[in-house]
Amino acid sequence: MKVMTIIGARPQFIKAAVVSRAFREHRPDVQEILVHTGQHYDTNMSDVFFEELDIPEPDYNLGVGGGTHGQNTGRMIEKLEKLMMEIGPDWVLVYGDTDSTLAGALAAVKLHIPVAHVEAGLRSFNRKMPEEINRVLTDHIADLLFAPTETGRQNLINEGISAKKVKLVGDVMYDAALFYKEKARKPNLPIELDASPEGFVLCTIHRAENTDDPQRLKNIFQGLGNSGEQVVLPMHPRTKSKMAQSGISFPDNVWVIEPVGYLEMVWLEENCKCVATDSGGVQKEAYFFGKPCVTMRDETEWVELVEAGWNRLVGADRDDLTNALIHVSKGVESKMLYGDGFSGGKVVTSLC
Ligand code: UDP
Repeated sequence: MKVMTIIGARPQFIKAAVVSRAFREHRPDVQEILVHTGQHYDTNMSDVFFEELDIPEPDYNLGVGGGTHGQNTGRMIEKLEKLMMEIGPDWVLVYGDTDSTLAGALAAVKLHIPVAHVEAGLRSFNRKMPEEINRVLTDHIADLLFAPTETGRQNLINEGISAKKVKLVGDVMYDAALFYKEKARKPNLPIELDASPEGFVLCTIHRAENTDDPQRLKNIFQGLGNSGEQVVLPMHPRTKSKMAQSGISFPDNVWVIEPVGYLEMVWLEENCKCVATDSGGVQKEAYFFGKPCVTMRDETEWVELVEAGWNRLVGADRDDLTNALIHVSKGVESKMLYGDGFSGGKVVTSLC
């Protein structure tokens, strides 16, 4: 059996690392063909994950990146279609909600190759987000949908997708957090971090709704600055270029560093006081490591974290952000909301 896995962006490398390992452990007879679209191409946004997380070298790298959504998606479809026709996989496996996800699903469905989608059913109900469009379309053309949460499963059913196609498997990112936690390592930084419970705030910002709106970006940096907290911010390349264009300055208490590898990110998540982010994955990782999260978005797909009090949505409101960082509060202890840490194995057994 041949499974073609399509990945291209940072969070997909982490998710695919889990499932790829599960293939090797549970079904070594399955031939996994790993295709990197090239959507993320910087060393610290791509190569480092393959090295650290023991992901096999991609069999193909399509080198498509750096364009607009339309350019990237179109070029990926063209190249993926050709590759799929040559290789003839039994399944195409896609992850999450990026242009690579949608391109992989569209190329496959037109060739009548079954598509499986890991992290299906997530919804922000905000159609201005490119990720939301990618998710909705992918879910509606996929043949097998792996939902990480009951909310995700229910969203799919509500949209008329047959329950038979949907499997609630938990979140592969929880598997990743448990597995790689043992290997977490302190990043080598030019500053001394206060790793006490009242210590530093770990921050990431990369959603287009924030980076592409200078006013929101300005409010966020003012909010971080006014908190007076020690903030460490591994900066996404998109945010870096938007900051340079907008001329917004960094407050003195915000330490901007290059993006870190996953093992260093896990160390930062385990040792911070709280997390401030607009990332989907980082919201959950904060919870995995028992840290409160302040989310700089107007809505979230991970609604159960807000309900349980672990996640506070502040949008791009400067004062709400400042207050949330100063007065952090933990949520209620509850059963793990994202499965049992064996989601990767469940994906593999359902597929094969
Ligand atoms: N991450 C990382 N290094 C960083 C920032 C994030 O390894 O400097 C990891 C993070 O721990 C999480 C994933 O990247 O596992 C989240 O990716 P991102 O925020 O880019 O995308 P999203 O989850 O919002 O789709």
